[in-house]
Amino acid sequence: KSKAKLQEPEKQDTSFDDVAGLDNTKKELEEVIEFLKDPTRFEEIGAKLPKGLLMVGPPGTGKTLLARAVAGEAEVPFYSISGSDFMEMFVGVGAKRIRDMFNKAKEKSPSIIFIDEIDSIGRSRGAGLGGGHDEREQTLNQLLSELDGFEPNESVVVIAATNRPDILDKALLRPGRFDRRITVDMPNQQAREKILEIHAKNKPMADDVDLGRVAKSTPGFSGADLENLLNEASLYAGRDKRKQVTMSDIDKARDKVMMGLEREGVQID
Ligand code: ATP
Repeated sequence: KSKAKLQEPEKQDTSFDDVAGLDNTKKELEEVIEFLKDPTRFEEIGAKLPKGLLMVGPPGTGKTLLARAVAGEAEVPFYSISGSDFMEMFVGVGAKRIRDMFNKAKEKSPSIIFIDEIDSIGRSRGAGLGGGHDEREQTLNQLLSELDGFEPNESVVVIAATNRPDILDKALLRPGRFDRRITVDMPNQQAREKILEIHAKNKPMADDVDLGRVAKSTPGFSGADLENLLNEASLYAGRDKRKQVTMSDIDKARDKVMMGLEREGVQID
């Protein structure tokens, strides 16, 4: 299966309700949603919205989820690629893939392009560790020229995500490119509880389960870690052929996930 094959846009049924917490981040994105819903309204009054947004935040904090939710809320097509897809490509393939994707997105405008792990293509030139330089540089150059090449009526919002903004090539951050930064933070206790509630919805919970307590005992957990925790807990219940997840399943699952995080060197305080 060729990684370079262009996917049809996915229809998004993700909405802001699927994203717990991150209220300020959502507020910042409202403007983009308004624009995508009715670009002409903004263009007619001469308003120029930033078309390149850089989402910055630790892994698993919901950057991809948020980008999907923006597409779902605005009801526009969502094209997505990940920087890591480009790792093993032959020279020229990555650039072509970028070009094709932008062309499609323009055809279906208003639309969203999402580039996950932009640092894999967009790391500062010269900061690489050898290997595949030509390919990455060509891909990056193509991306830069696409970002510069929008016509006024092409309402494509490009959202990129990274947890390493420090290593990005400065050319990507120039005005007119990814010139707006959106911070996606790790969830605090309150947000963790809300995330747990969302992911507990499709899992029958025993009466002894107290998600508030779980939220309290999981500092340093991202949204993805919390989702993983509840999934592990339901696996424990499933193995025991029980129909409900108990607090003891959750406690065991938390210890397991926590051990994995410590191994990765994540600070749990
Ligand atoms: P990465 O940097 O690893 O790509 P990311 O920031 O893009 O991570 P997502 O892929 O969006 O993170 O998150 C992974 C999963 O974790 C989501 O699909 C969702 O189920 C869950 N999740 C993360 N954050 C939240 C949140 N704020 N609310 C609800 N679910 C969340």
